[in-house]
Amino acid sequence: MSTYKVAVLDDVKKTAFREVEKREPKDKQVLVKVDSCAICTLEQRVYTGVMNKYPFAGGHEAAGVAVAVGKKVTGVKPGDKVAVRLLNSCGECYYCRNGHENQCVKSFIAETQECAIGPGGFSEYMMMDAADVYKMADDIDLSHAALSEPLACCVHSVENGKIQLGDDVVVIGIGIMGALHIQLAKLKGARVIACELDEKRLEIAKKMGADILINSGKTDPVEEVKRLTDGRGADAVFCTVPVAALAGQAVDMTGKLGRTVFYTSFHPDKPIEISPNKVHSSEQIITGTVNPQKKDFLIATRLLSLKLVDVSELISDRIPLAEIDKALEKAVLPDTYRIIVQP
Ligand SMILES: [Zn+2]
Ligand SMILES: [Zn+2]
Repeated sequence: MSTYKVAVLDDVKKTAFREVEKREPKDKQVLVKVDSCAICTLEQRVYTGVMNKYPFAGGHEAAGVAVAVGKKVTGVKPGDKVAVRLLNSCGECYYCRNGHENQCVKSFIAETQECAIGPGGFSEYMMMDAADVYKMADDIDLSHAALSEPLACCVHSVENGKIQLGDDVVVIGIGIMGALHIQLAKLKGARVIACELDEKRLEIAKKMGADILINSGKTDPVEEVKRLTDGRGADAVFCTVPVAALAGQAVDMTGKLGRTVFYTSFHPDKPIEISPNKVHSSEQIITGTVNPQKKDFLIATRLLSLKLVDVSELISDRIPLAEIDKALEKAVLPDTYRIIVQP
């Protein structure tokens, strides 16, 4: 019996490796040899104990190579580079059935590995259902393909922002998600204004294609956005920073008929004041975005495969799976973008 390694979080800041039996894929299964798995906020929260669910097989942003496929698989063949969709929906609830599986009542928790719950991407191999395996371009860097999932989250968000050609779009916060929003908003034909306190991150915003940079520590961002838009306010505003006061700013800087999208979850979830009359008279839409739908995942894999989105600047480091602790420690530092774990 041959086995492979899976990294599991057993407690706060405590990782271990389990051996899992390597099987042959059945009819609609694909055995994927993992090349890269990025560390997202979910894994950081379990690692630091903010979310307490142990043992947990983390890693939901993964890509690799299909090494064996079941008899009934038609979408991929052995040797294909693939991205995998690991946070899945139940398929049975009201929202899964009406085409909004990102709102699934069971939320997005996977059981990919036999040894522990969780998406299980911090591993050497994964046995996947063919439906969750997306073929990538032959020439793609697999550490880039691993960012299909975060890009898919941003695709869903940008769709909720309903950007039109020539719109003024504001992105608040230039972490990895803000950076991806900038690239997507540019693809949609917008003028993009980036708001951020950190000068280094504003430089990244520039590289991502932002047209205008606002250092919100030096300039009042609401006033500045109004000035830049002849007093109208922006057509779409995306708040990617988990600070409630910034959600308030996002609402304030959105103009008539504009869309305000709360991309991030907020910690703490502090209520904000909104003028009902502003919403009444401006017909402004305030919405959120959570998780990608399958079609967002498909779009993200295409954007990466076709090189329409470039994530090379957003990978801070690549660390071997054997040093998973070092990788997680590095990921929780505030100044890193994505850390990629590689078996
Ligand atoms: Zn993620
Ligand atoms: Zn469901």
